Amino acid sequence: MVPSSRPTRSSSSAEPEPVLVEPVGEKPADPAPEAAPPKKAAVRGWPGVGPQLAERLAKIDVFSPADLILHLPLRYEDETRLTMLADARPGIAVQCEVEVLSCEVTPPPRRQLVARAADASGEVMLRFVHFYPSQQKQMAAGARLRIFGELRDGFFGAEMIHPRIKPVAAGEPLPESLTPIYPTTAGLAQSALRKIIAGALRHNGMRDELPEALRRNLNLPALPDALRMLHAPPPSVSILDIEDRGHPAWQRIKLDELLAQQISLRRAYAARRAKNAASLPQRDTLTRELLKQLPFALTGAQRRAFSEIAADLASDHPMQRLLQGDVGSGKTCVAALAMLQAAENGRQAVLMAPTEILAEQHYRKLTDWLTPIGLEVAWLSGSRKKKEREATLARLAAGEILLAVGTHALIEDPVTLPGLALAVVDEQHRFGVRQRLALREKGKAGESPHMLMMSATPIPRTLAMSYYADLDVSVLDELPPGRTPIVTKLVAEARREEVIRRVHDACVKGRQAYWVCPLIEESEALQLKTAEESYAMLSAALPDLAVGLVHGRLKNDVKSATMAAFVAGDIKVLVATTVIEVGVDVPNASLMVIEHAERFGLAQLHQLRGRVGRGAHESACILIFAQPLSQTGRERLKAIYEHTDGFIIAREDLRIRGPGEFIGARQSGVPLLRYADLEQDAGLVEIARGLAEEILEDAPRVADAVTARWFGGRASLLKA
Ligand code: ADP
Ligand code: MG
Repeated sequence: MVPSSRPTRSSSSAEPEPVLVEPVGEKPADPAPEAAPPKKAAVRGWPGVGPQLAERLAKIDVFSPADLILHLPLRYEDETRLTMLADARPGIAVQCEVEVLSCEVTPPPRRQLVARAADASGEVMLRFVHFYPSQQKQMAAGARLRIFGELRDGFFGAEMIHPRIKPVAAGEPLPESLTPIYPTTAGLAQSALRKIIAGALRHNGMRDELPEALRRNLNLPALPDALRMLHAPPPSVSILDIEDRGHPAWQRIKLDELLAQQISLRRAYAARRAKNAASLPQRDTLTRELLKQLPFALTGAQRRAFSEIAADLASDHPMQRLLQGDVGSGKTCVAALAMLQAAENGRQAVLMAPTEILAEQHYRKLTDWLTPIGLEVAWLSGSRKKKEREATLARLAAGEILLAVGTHALIEDPVTLPGLALAVVDEQHRFGVRQRLALREKGKAGESPHMLMMSATPIPRTLAMSYYADLDVSVLDELPPGRTPIVTKLVAEARREEVIRRVHDACVKGRQAYWVCPLIEESEALQLKTAEESYAMLSAALPDLAVGLVHGRLKNDVKSATMAAFVAGDIKVLVATTVIEVGVDVPNASLMVIEHAERFGLAQLHQLRGRVGRGAHESACILIFAQPLSQTGRERLKAIYEHTDGFIIAREDLRIRGPGEFIGARQSGVPLLRYADLEQDAGLVEIARGLAEEILEDAPRVADAVTARWFGGRASLLKA
């Protein structure tokens, strides 16, 4: 096994562990040769790894030989050639071969190891702030060393701080490949990591399973060649080329990673599709009545989406569909139709929304639509009185009520829905994996409910393909007619008075306005304070108008009374925190003012703006911003000002923030990508997607091999 990499410490024990993620100076050479017989190690696939090393490898997520091989360098150093001291330029890492002239440890308090060394062209000082006794020995006068580091002009002439040093004999050959620098952890030296990775690479039997013609077409090397190229690039390759992740070897690795991801997602999809569900054929009774009842005709997009959903519901395997449509595209009534198709078949359907305000709004809307056709809708939220709640629960449990709307209160224990056959989740990205799973569990034993997820946060295509590859998608790409476009204005804080006048004018003309308070993420108390201040300020500035206030800390009945008054038009100006961000639908509101707009995320701004422009009135969104603006704040405001299409805004958002944050990837449970980048490698995502389909069909064993090497035993990471 590899000897313990913990070296003898020098006398000053307060020094930090010298091996960092990217060590400045290498730890001293291993004091003893490897003890384990390589043959046995090869059989085990773990050349030279003892328990301590295994523990450190686990810290960098290396649990198997495949993990080792896929642990790829961050960058490289060129030790394949020597530079004369006289030719070394400051700031560029070079390797020189020198002889030590003298070496000493300077006295405390600035205890340092300092050596003078020279080659035929000049002299250099080697300086170590922390060091091991063994290093001192290696640098005895007369020793021949290869030193690697950056030369700089020091007080005493040219010097190198913490160069990597390696004692050599005269004429010792140079390495034949570039030296990889790996991501590592404390106590795991580059040299140790290199040794075991090189071993794993030699002993692995990895093959490229991709059809050769395809690889040729894409101009990509075979996987083993790509791996060898990245771990041990020949000196003929330029460091710049290979550090660039566009290099064909990198592309081959990324394609493999994306392929593994796509395969896992498709398998998860297939596994879920294989479950049983209630078949809910289209009966055209209740749905037809609702269509008659609606004050409008469906848009083409709504009709298309509903017919896709209706077909899924008729199947006896569970639907898993994402209904995506920009704010205001009319997702609610598509959901209502789907729920009615369940009811037509005598089965239960629920609609879950992330906030109380939104859930209540859905409840009111569904009640308005469905009461005339004789259907009752149950309302479940945390705010309902215990007695009412229990009565509702009992009727749901008895199957007397078929439809229910609520917040996450729907998934709590006491709720039983014996006839549940369809669950609709609005603003699905607001819910965690566990909550969606809990909803699915509510169904009958041996049956999974059909799931319809809705989202107004448009997902850019590449993201949709990888994060939602396990869902079918319907898109509402058409807004209901008669909407007037929303004018967006950016206004500096100094002009707040003008904005208040504008609010006044709009309300006097019979319209209504939202005034959204600054977002203060770090403190709910402060957020509350600003909301109350804005409310006081506007009430004073607009004495002739009824001003209301909603925020997350209000009691639910106060909140819902205020919302109801705003819907009824009794409140003209609604001061609000982001509780109104999603879903709120008051067509008479034509003005949206957002204070400190620079603090909001792009998706949030788009959602908030989508609260207006819902009626026939001319609408505006006024973004008040405070200076100075950060770079991303500026980019966000520019994007929201220039674009109204949610898909374009989402793409901008992805560009500004990166996919991890965009989607909350860690939370979503989808296997994270280590090397591929969904935006940059969009082309590869497409290829991987097609390939995954073919491989699953024709060569399931290849699919196993690919996912095993990337995810190993961690397939459980897959999204629920
Ligand atoms: P979202 O997709 O953002 O959830 P909603 O379902 O809240 O959108 O619909 C927005 C508004 O448009 C609502 O007032 C709704 O009644 C109305 N609406 C929905 N479909 C149509 C349609 N086909 N024609 C006219 N108005 C519609
Ligand atoms: Mg909605």
